[in-house]
Amino acid sequence: MRVLVTGGAGFIGSHIVDALLKEGHEVGVIDDLSTGRRENLNPLVHFVELDIRNEEGVAEVMSNGHFDAVCHQAAQTSVVVSTREPLRDASINVIGTIVLLEACVRFGVKRFVFASTGGAIYGEVPEPEIAKPGRKEKPISPYACSKLAGEVYVQRYAREHGLQATILRYANVYGPRQDPHGEAGVVAIFTERMLRGEPVRINARRSVGDDGCVRDYVYVEDVVKANLLALKGKLSAPIYHCATGRGTTTRSLAEMLKALTGSTSEMIPTPHRPGDVERSVLEPHPEVTGGEAPTPLEQGLKLTVEWFRNKAHLSH
Ligand code: NAD
Repeated sequence: MRVLVTGGAGFIGSHIVDALLKEGHEVGVIDDLSTGRRENLNPLVHFVELDIRNEEGVAEVMSNGHFDAVCHQAAQTSVVVSTREPLRDASINVIGTIVLLEACVRFGVKRFVFASTGGAIYGEVPEPEIAKPGRKEKPISPYACSKLAGEVYVQRYAREHGLQATILRYANVYGPRQDPHGEAGVVAIFTERMLRGEPVRINARRSVGDDGCVRDYVYVEDVVKANLLALKGKLSAPIYHCATGRGTTTRSLAEMLKALTGSTSEMIPTPHRPGDVERSVLEPHPEVTGGEAPTPLEQGLKLTVEWFRNKAHLSH
């Protein structure tokens, strides 16, 4: 297969690129390096530094690449940034997606995989519920709105132009290469701070000192598996979750990471962060991991801590 991965220099995109190359596929990447990093990029890819909103640039890449599929991971990914800059968020996540879809039609790309968000798209998922794909979306943040709009466009192009599209709604993804300096990615942030012995903040779910919000943490390799199956046309439904169905509070995540890192970091209780949903847990789909159970949180965290530990070691 010849696959174009947008956002291939980012956290999730770069793991997808590696997995595709490992299976012998040809891979092109476009990424504007706004949050992605050159060092994430596998040297075997054909990389073009490009904003996905650049219609001419995208057309050129698509016409030269003869791609069978586009795996669209590039996005403005931060809920906090989307609240501060809703126009930029929509411009990248909605307009950028349409630019790619138009190019797919124009250059005969048959398949499109879209990275969406299960964590943000449903809004609150109160106990003891687990969100199922048929559940009514209730986007709260501009980020959730722009991702939902992207989904609607993807489905429209599937209907009108016969594009074979799969939407993957990710829960909270974690793993090696996640940026510990962003405003999201609590596993990366906590791991790096704990390895340095720095304090971590437990943002409240409701009031200062509680156990924090509840999230469904899914390991990046499980998300990679889903993308590869979707790219190969092995997922026939329009929308899937990449999730575990298990809810974990911020405090219990911090406790697990403390044990794994052997850290003495202090946990500082802080207020609820506006815009954060209190609880999000999604029903997992065994199809997206080839029938296997999702990676247990303990195992995924262990692999992540090992990676961050090696990285810290190498940078000294
Ligand atoms: P990331 O920031 O590491 O990756 C996004 C990549 O897109 C970066 O390399 C960035 O440079 C690139 N990019 C951003 N704007 C661009 C533009 N205008 N043109 C070209 N490239 C651009 O984030 P990630 O966590 O790897 O996210 C990948 C995808 O998964 C995103 O679509 C995100 O919304 C989605 N997602 C992530 C999570 C999560 O927990 N990490 C959860 C749900 C959905």
